[in-house]
Amino acid sequence: MEIIRTIKQMQQISTQLKKEYKQIGYVATMGYFHEGHHNLMRRARNENDIVITSIFVNPLQFGPNEDFEKYPRDEEKDSQEAEKDGIDYLFLPSVDEMYPNKSIINMHIDGRVDVLCGKSRPGHFNGVLTVLTKLFHIIQPDKTYFGLKDAQQVAVVDALIQEHNFPIELIGVPTTRESDGLAKSSRNVFLNRQEREEAVWLYKSLLHGKQLVVDGVKNPDIIIKEVRELLREHVTGEVDYIEMLSYPELMPIIDVDQNTILAAAVYFKEARIIDNIIFNSDGQIKELIN
Ligand code: AMP
Repeated sequence: MEIIRTIKQMQQISTQLKKEYKQIGYVATMGYFHEGHHNLMRRARNENDIVITSIFVNPLQFGPNEDFEKYPRDEEKDSQEAEKDGIDYLFLPSVDEMYPNKSIINMHIDGRVDVLCGKSRPGHFNGVLTVLTKLFHIIQPDKTYFGLKDAQQVAVVDALIQEHNFPIELIGVPTTRESDGLAKSSRNVFLNRQEREEAVWLYKSLLHGKQLVVDGVKNPDIIIKEVRELLREHVTGEVDYIEMLSYPELMPIIDVDQNTILAAAVYFKEARIIDNIIFNSDGQIKELIN
């Protein structure tokens, strides 16, 4: 595995690979790898000639009161693990390399962001899309892999690829979970013991909501109310949102009569934890984007 730190070198390598008709799979990350990241990288490894992973904690997507400074980082361990996953190139640009000057062009997304995490993180997805636009131009992937744990991110990347005509196939990869069901996340390290035990109720509550759909309940208000009651009963953290929307359009729904996301976010003392389930009108879980 080769570690690349400059945009110029990364772009030269990708351009050369394209000339050789190599199929490039790309996994964008902020590092501090866990099994969720590894599943994305292994899947990319299985489906492409060349796999490129980037680690970049992108300041543009963190709000002023968010955890950019304290976001966990471990470049050495991540590098060793990426090599074990069979990654060919690990792209590790610095903030100065990615943003040498204050940018005068930034992406701005209007749809799919006034709900879920976008509502409590204004500007977050603009930052995500700005950095991804740059990374897609640098890496020139054929396929890119994103985790459905961050389902709203998958929905906005889907819009970026479609509206801005990137010749890239987007693969939404199902959420990797701990054995008790908690979605794996770099931020789980910030949970204390009691919060860690409580956090599993995000998934349990969402599963209960999905079961209501299987049992024939189609009214989102009833489902959200029950999920809220379960969370209130079992979690000390403050609920940020519980929402049910169409997926990937992220529009309000009156009935569960299409592909639907049921998602929740909870503020614990040192971390905000999110989770979601995506299902069809029968409550069956599907891989919706590829
Ligand atoms: P991050 O480093 O948090 O930006 O995540 C990099 C990629 O890994 C994103 O596409 C995430 O959605 C994905 N990811 C993070 N956690 C999980 C998980 N538990 N299961 C599946 N994908 C994940």
